[in-house]
Formats: sequence, structure tokens, C-alpha cells
Amino acid sequence: MDTSRIDTLRAAPVPPAAHLIDGAHRPASDGAVMEVISPLDGTLLTTMPRGTAQDAEAAIAAARRAFDDGRWSDLAPAARKAILLKWADLIEAQALEIAVLGVRDNGTEIGMALKAEPLSAVATIRYYAEAIDKLYGEIAPTAPGTLGLVHRAPVGVVGAIVPWNFPLMIGAWKLGPALAAGCTVVLKPAETASLTLLRIADLALEAGMPPGVLNVVTGEGGVVGAAIAESPQVDALVFTGSGATGRRLLEASARSNLKRVYLELGGKSPNIVFADAPDLDEAAKVSAMGIFRNSGQVCVAGSRLLVDRAIHDVFVEKLARAAEAMKVGDPLDPSTASGAVNSERQLAQNLAFVEEARAQGRTIVTGGHRILEETGGTYMAPTVVTGVAPTDRLAQEEVFGPVLAVLPFDTEKEAIALANGTDFGLAAAVWTADLSRAHRMVRRIRAGVVHVNTYGGADMTVPLGGVGQSGNGHDKSLHAFDKYLDLKTAWIKL
Ligand code: NAD
Repeated sequence: MDTSRIDTLRAAPVPPAAHLIDGAHRPASDGAVMEVISPLDGTLLTTMPRGTAQDAEAAIAAARRAFDDGRWSDLAPAARKAILLKWADLIEAQALEIAVLGVRDNGTEIGMALKAEPLSAVATIRYYAEAIDKLYGEIAPTAPGTLGLVHRAPVGVVGAIVPWNFPLMIGAWKLGPALAAGCTVVLKPAETASLTLLRIADLALEAGMPPGVLNVVTGEGGVVGAAIAESPQVDALVFTGSGATGRRLLEASARSNLKRVYLELGGKSPNIVFADAPDLDEAAKVSAMGIFRNSGQVCVAGSRLLVDRAIHDVFVEKLARAAEAMKVGDPLDPSTASGAVNSERQLAQNLAFVEEARAQGRTIVTGGHRILEETGGTYMAPTVVTGVAPTDRLAQEEVFGPVLAVLPFDTEKEAIALANGTDFGLAAAVWTADLSRAHRMVRRIRAGVVHVNTYGGADMTVPLGGVGQSGNGHDKSLHAFDKYLDLKTAWIKL
């Protein structure tokens, strides 16, 4: 990685941001702004509009017009594809610049940010762009004298509300299939990670996407997000974030126009290590990455380690050493393995979980405290807690920070019961050399993705979605189109 370029970009002033509505940059309707504080050092990075409900409504109206007049949905799929591919090329050409801006905004370590943010968005947009002129409708097997055609029609205006941990990756998981399908979008980024999404929205215009097709409104979830959720002009709502917000969106849909709501929520994902795991050193290293990368701010983070009692002490020791070997700190240093916690608020929440575990007599094997306070930034040591009981808050609730809860098990049956013993069902992993056991576990664990002898890394070809209180619907893969394309039947008497 070009470190001198990173140093130049790190110091570059960031101009005040604006909404993108109907192809134009706009301030908030009342002129209010929000400060964008960098988690790297606590300094003011720039400002962005503190959006109002009127701003959201203006963006929704623009998206509605853009959908209804067919400027996007009536383009030949190959024409939409060409614009989306150009968009991906423009993002790729500025990947490092965009990644550094994102790191300054949300704190993810640059190595991961570059790959998981702009370059992941590029891959996602290309994937859906390439797919859109290869999706066929159906001719139904009807009786002679009739013809049943099943069309796939774009759902209309999509409201997309996304979180701060991977704004571009998760944003592109929504934007890629929605835009490829011919929908128009009003996007609401998170308060603490809006800048890169605004930047790529500008590039969409540059690539030739018509004004009004992609609109971005910044501000508070309870104001801008709520206005999108309540709007009768929005046909579908796609969301990644917390369960509490997900519930509000479902209520808003019920109160307004019954828009469909697709939720990707949190997790308390079990990472299950059996004594027969093929390589315990590798398992410990990957497990540490599986919880501690991006300071644990990963929806699929393996935040519960369920470990065979026979290897508990040995494995915890290996994992604690792997955690301590991870370099935590300046996310713009390419050798950093885990960057900053996104905000003071998130850090306080992480530490509160640790304090509660300590008060309950649980053992903090490593970490458990804030570090690098002298930088002004928000950093936390990777933390491993043993002796956690299945009913502890630390075993049941998502921390969304670098805190690992360790629970022992004696039998496969007990491991399954522990794994399924939360309200969530997003991700899981099983480490074993026994192929039959691996398949049994995949069947029995309630989760959207079960990794075997690895953690994370699933690519665009496979869906990601949760069960239980981890959500509904899927991002990634061709299945994501289901959220953005309606089935429409033409029944014809011949
Ligand atoms: P959050 O729910 O507070 O915020 C997410 C988004 O919703 C933000 O844009 C926010 O502004 C908006 N929002 C907040 N209140 C709203 C309201 N009343 N109406 C409409 N919009 C509102 O979550 P967060 O703290 O930003 O993100 C962390 C959470 O996201 C974690 O729980 C994490 O597990 C989850 N997450 C899930 C996935 C996944 O794929 N399942 C991926 C990443 C993060």
C-alpha cells in the first residue's frame, strides 16, 4: 500500500458535505449541520447537513418522479448495466482516496477498509450490473389456449437505511441490486459514516445515472430515517442496523403504506471449537480476527466462543496471545490489525459490558480497557472474558465491540443448545476435522451462514441474511434481487 499517499490524504481538508437530492447538492432545509468527528483523534473532520423531514420528503419526491417517468426503469437493462459498470470503474479509480476518507470518518483499519469498502462496493456493483441483462422472466406451463407470462418488475422507490461499520460495503449490497433492478433509491447513511456514500453517489451522476435515481440524505435516524420509513411514497425499505430500529421500521410500515421491510440486524454469533479442530493455532488466529477486526464492529462477528472443555484452557491461552499480537491503533497505518472504535458512545457501551462481567465475577483474560487515550481517539484493547454464563448479558446481547465471551461445552448436543440459545441467528462457525459432525452442525445451528474451519470471507456468490431477531431477507447473490423485483403475471387468452 502507498503509505506516502495515505499520509497526504490523511491531512487533506474535507469540505463540508451536502445532501444529494435530484442530482443537486443541497444543505438542510433549515441550514442545520452536524459535526463529523474523527474517531482517530477526536478532531472535527467536517460538517454535513442535519437533514430534516422536509429534506427526506424532497428526496423521496425526486425518487418517485424518477421512477414513475421511467428515466431509469425503462432503460434497456444493458444500458443500465453500462452506467453501473462505469460507476464501478470510477469508484475503483479513486479507491484509496475514498477508503482513507472513510477511515477518517469511521475508524476501520485501512487494510480492511480498502478491501471491504470501495473495492467491495465495486465488486458488488459489477456483480449486479452484469446480472441484470441475464435475468429472464417465465412462461408458465398453462393449458393450451392460454399464455401465462411472469414478468419481473422493479418494486419502485426504495428507502435504504444503513449503519456505520461498513457503509460502502453494506450500502452497495442494497444499491447494487436495487439500481440494477430499475428501482430508484433514497439512501440514509449513518450519522457517523456518511461521507463515502455521498462521494460515491456523486460518482454515480458522473457515470451517467440520471438525476433523482440515487438520492442521499444525511442526518439523524430518528428524523430522516423515520421520515423515509413513514412515507407512503416509498415502496420498500431495506435496512441494516440494530433490532430496536428494525422494530420501529416495521411499525412505521404498518402505520403508513405497508411497504415491505427487509431487515439485516445484529447477532451474537457462536464460534464453536471442537477438540478435534484440524489446527488449533490457525483456529485461534482466525477466531481472534473473527471477533476483533474492525474493533468487533462487524455484524457477523464471532462474539461467543463455545469451546470444548477438553481444550478450553489451551485454546483460550492461544486465542488471548493471538488477540494480544494484533496491533490496535492508528487505522491509517497499514500494519494496524484493528482500528478505532467508531464513537465515544460505542466505546462507553463496550466498557459497560466488561464492567458488568467483572462485577459478576467473570475473568477478564486479556484487555478490558480503553487504550491510546492520549491520541484523543477511541481505542479499546481486544478483550477475552471467560467463565461467562449462558444467561449473562454478555452471552445474550450484542456488544458490537472487541469483546469475546467464552463458554465451555462438554458434548455436541450442548454446543448446539448453547449456539441456538439466543434470540439471534446471523452467523456461526464450527471447527472440526469430522466431516459428518460439520454437516450435522450446519443443519442444526440456527443461523444464516455457518462457516466450517474458517470464520468470515463468504463472497458475493452466496446470500447473507439472518433468522430469528437477526432479520429477514438477504443481501448478496442473485437472491438479493427478490427484494427489488416483483413478480407480475400476464394471463392471456389466446
Ligand atoms: P442503528 O439501528 O442505530 O442505526 C442504523 C441506521 O438506522 C442509521 O443510519 C441510523 O441513523 C438509522 N436509524 C436510527 N434510528 C432510526 C429510526 N428511528 N428510524 C429510521 N432510521 C433510524 O444501528 P447502528 O448502531 O448504526 O449499527 C449497529 C447495528 O447494526 C448493530 O446492531 C449491528 O449488528 C447491526 N448490523 C447488522 C448487519 C447485518 O448485515 N445484519 C451489518 C452491520 C451492522
